[in-house]
Amino acid sequence: MALFRLPPALVARTDRITLRDPVFISDLHLNAAQPATRAAFARFCDEVAPRHAELVILGDLFEFWAGDDDPDAVGDEVAQRLARLADAGTSVFLMHGNRDLLLGSGFCARAKASLLADPTLALTDGRGVLLSHGDAYCTRDTDYMAFRRKARNPLFQVLFLAKPLSERRSVIGKARATSEATKALKSMEIMDVTPAEVEQAMSHYSVRTMIHGHTHRPATHHHEVDGQGATRWVLPDWDMDAMPKRGGYLVLRDGQWAVQPLG
Ligand code: MN
Repeated sequence: MALFRLPPALVARTDRITLRDPVFISDLHLNAAQPATRAAFARFCDEVAPRHAELVILGDLFEFWAGDDDPDAVGDEVAQRLARLADAGTSVFLMHGNRDLLLGSGFCARAKASLLADPTLALTDGRGVLLSHGDAYCTRDTDYMAFRRKARNPLFQVLFLAKPLSERRSVIGKARATSEATKALKSMEIMDVTPAEVEQAMSHYSVRTMIHGHTHRPATHHHEVDGQGATRWVLPDWDMDAMPKRGGYLVLRDGQWAVQPLG
């Protein structure tokens, strides 16, 4: 008998963390059809993440997630890798993306990962850093924002997760196809974050640094927040099955943030 589980939107999470020596990744979109990207994640877990005190995954670790009860082999493999990292002393923090917002308490327990709220205020190197997946700030995409509200509604999630797994997979498959089709018709500006929204968020949390993913347009952006310079890091997405290969991670080196490409 399945135990009742809270819908993912209601799983307890923290929105304040202190990070000693973090490594940040997002938008790996891991799935069965991209073996080279999964292999790159395995190498990253063996060689890079263990050198850090914390691994922080800012959303879209998976290409899709139909529920913690999905016996999908990719999910299992990733949960085991994350749990091994946690056992070896690297704390694992996970934030929902728009592709894997149904990751719930079951997966987090298997992966020994803590779920982060979006946004989360991190304190690292004595400074505040705002962490987000990023989609919440894409406010010019009104269709997407309406979908986002629905998909994060706890009641919607309870009803959706009560459907048979095959039906959930089919609905998600169609949603992914529709999303790819409509993306081609929308302008780059509409699908990017709204600068005024991220500036307002940085002002609200009194930070001058923000880190997010989602847009698949890795960059360092400069903003002005309350009359001061502020920096926004957009994490690289991963696709080691494409040509050219791409992927990387963000670390703090001697007090400076730096994006490292995958080796
Ligand atoms: Mn995303």
